[in-house]
Amino acid sequence: MNQWNHQARKALKGAKQSNDFFDIQVFEDKNFPIKIPLEYAQLIDKTNPNDPLLRQVLPQNKKNSSSYSAEPLSDEDNSPVGGLIHKYKNRVLLIASQVCAIHCQYCFRQNFNYAQHDALSNWPQIERYINDDTNINEVILSGGDPLSLSDDKLAKLVRLIETIKHIDTLRIHTRSAVVMPSRITSELAKLLNSSRLKVIMVFHVNHAQELSDDFVQQIKQLKNLTLLNQAVLLKGVNDKVACLKSLSLALIKLNILPYYLHMLDKVSGAEDYFVEDEIALSLHQQLQTELSGYLVPKLVRDSNQKSKTWLSAIQKQKL
Ligand code: SF4
Repeated sequence: MNQWNHQARKALKGAKQSNDFFDIQVFEDKNFPIKIPLEYAQLIDKTNPNDPLLRQVLPQNKKNSSSYSAEPLSDEDNSPVGGLIHKYKNRVLLIASQVCAIHCQYCFRQNFNYAQHDALSNWPQIERYINDDTNINEVILSGGDPLSLSDDKLAKLVRLIETIKHIDTLRIHTRSAVVMPSRITSELAKLLNSSRLKVIMVFHVNHAQELSDDFVQQIKQLKNLTLLNQAVLLKGVNDKVACLKSLSLALIKLNILPYYLHMLDKVSGAEDYFVEDEIALSLHQQLQTELSGYLVPKLVRDSNQKSKTWLSAIQKQKL
């Protein structure tokens, strides 16, 4: 068994293991099962009950708010073929895996029905769909987390995508690489560095404290890739200018460009993480005054969830 598989098996699962590890009694088993890789758990300050990393894995109490739902993005409505989501003209998203190294308690896909959505099992239909639409030039691997696949399965999927002539870009969205850096194996680096596709890796880092020494070392292997970051704006985690600023500055030192800052997708159970629109827009404006433009991530939210405040900010071109 390789090191990352071993790490994946050792992840803390459930309230009892988590309470025992952190020597606290704050974890409770709720809707979305607790899962915390040890590489991530070790970055949490056990003496700080408000640690921003702890907060992301600590199940919250559900509120009965009508604007929250089990599946806020209606992914199923945009899935013409199992395992493929097509929302924008030039790109499709593939559900490469239903597994994640970590369970982020704000995750918008925590109730997603993965049963019919495995990209490898549905490949013949997916291939036909992409072949028939030459507008598509980019394939995005998502999940779950695509790096939960073994190197062999991931190589198979990448090779299959490479056979489609009009695809020139492969984008991989991953949080596993950050929360479990041992997942960036030399085999994985070799596969991605040698692809005929332009490979873009989008890390999901929400806080500078998540950038471990191991992560810094491991990503050095990804020599031929473009590295971007996408964070989620989360109350009590990163909703301060100083915090977002230090994240951008830490990322750029690693040659990772801060790309997106996402508003929370309103999934039931994640209400406590929501940052109000006015606060988000104000934070973003302050960031623009304190950082060079390339360090200010684009503030975005899903098109289903745009409020009046949001739309008026767009009209005034604040975004
Ligand atoms: S890694 Fe991504 S898909 Fe997985 S639980 Fe976290 S937010 Fe959800």
